Amino acid sequence: MSQILTPEAEAVEACFRNKNVDPRPGWTWQESLKHSIRSGRELVEALGLPFDLASKAAEADFPVFAPLEYVSRMQLGRPDDPLLLQVLGTKDETDAASGLLDPVGDSQSTLVPGLLKKYAGRALMIASGACAVHCRYCFRRHFPYSDVPAGRSRWQPALDAISADQSIAEVILSGGDPLSLRDTALQRLIDSLGSMAHVQRIRVHTRFPVMIPQRVCQSLLTWVASSRCAVYFVLHFNHAAEVDQHVVDAMHKLKRAGAMLLNQSVLLKGVNDSEAAQRDLCQRLIDIPVLPYYLHQLDHVRGAMHFQVSDDRAREIIAALRKDLPGYGVPQLVREIAGQPHKVPL
Ligand SMILES: *Cc1c(COP(=O)(O)O)cnc(C)c1O
Ligand code: SF4
Repeated sequence: MSQILTPEAEAVEACFRNKNVDPRPGWTWQESLKHSIRSGRELVEALGLPFDLASKAAEADFPVFAPLEYVSRMQLGRPDDPLLLQVLGTKDETDAASGLLDPVGDSQSTLVPGLLKKYAGRALMIASGACAVHCRYCFRRHFPYSDVPAGRSRWQPALDAISADQSIAEVILSGGDPLSLRDTALQRLIDSLGSMAHVQRIRVHTRFPVMIPQRVCQSLLTWVASSRCAVYFVLHFNHAAEVDQHVVDAMHKLKRAGAMLLNQSVLLKGVNDSEAAQRDLCQRLIDIPVLPYYLHQLDHVRGAMHFQVSDDRAREIIAALRKDLPGYGVPQLVREIAGQPHKVPL
């Protein structure tokens, strides 16, 4: 059973019957979620690929979920498309039964339900269990989100804990994806955090602007611009082909609203594990402009082990990037090791 929640699961009635990989330009982000692809079969059909590429067994463990805005950036008829591989459940997931359910020790660092504190000065709020996409390699694919507070009143214990701990200078809104919440709820959360004098920075970990760029709407920009705290967005791009003009426009809007933009990606075999793919990604990012922050080695989560790249190979790729890119364009290669006081550089 999947633990990451699928937004508005009622809408399987996709506009995909006519194989039209064409998100309507006027959709709001909520409409876009509603029209997202919810099965591997629909996905391969839309791309003109054979049905047997999709695995029912993989989907029983973690459902397929991908917005049309993202699917429209995939190439037709290409089973190894780097965007497709991130979202299609394949038999590789069930072949390799190794991997852990809680690879990064989240369960041990829970302060109160929905609040994790692993590192000095920073606390991470699981603001929502829903996402704009289901990434097959997600380290939280088995996280018990149904135990996590949903809605405003249930955040109160987390807010009280942050308020009581003067050492917390930075609050990270994560999930799931915090931007799956309504902006009215986010505005209240930002206001509550902003009223705590010791909170200086708010960081939003999100894949929404990459998947559904119209999520960067006026009401979002309003709470970003209104915050007393410094606001960082840590986006999650894994491949240069994920950047289209809509995404670029969204980045510019966030920037103009005063946010600092960083990227974290995951090194994934078959998706972005070549010098060229990483160089293209980082180059594209600094142009739009988003600073590459972390390149993560895969967490050993069950169902994702086929994406693993060796540490030696990862170091080679980073060494190649250093030769071609400005220093600020090279991400730190890190792995999360449960119990360590920070992400561990390789
Ligand atoms: C990754 C993570 C952070 C942020 O770490 P940085 O190195 O500051 O990016 C904070 N809290 C938790 C629980 C994390 O997993
Ligand atoms: S958006 Fe983030 S939390 Fe959601 S499935 Fe992808 S990696 Fe996991």
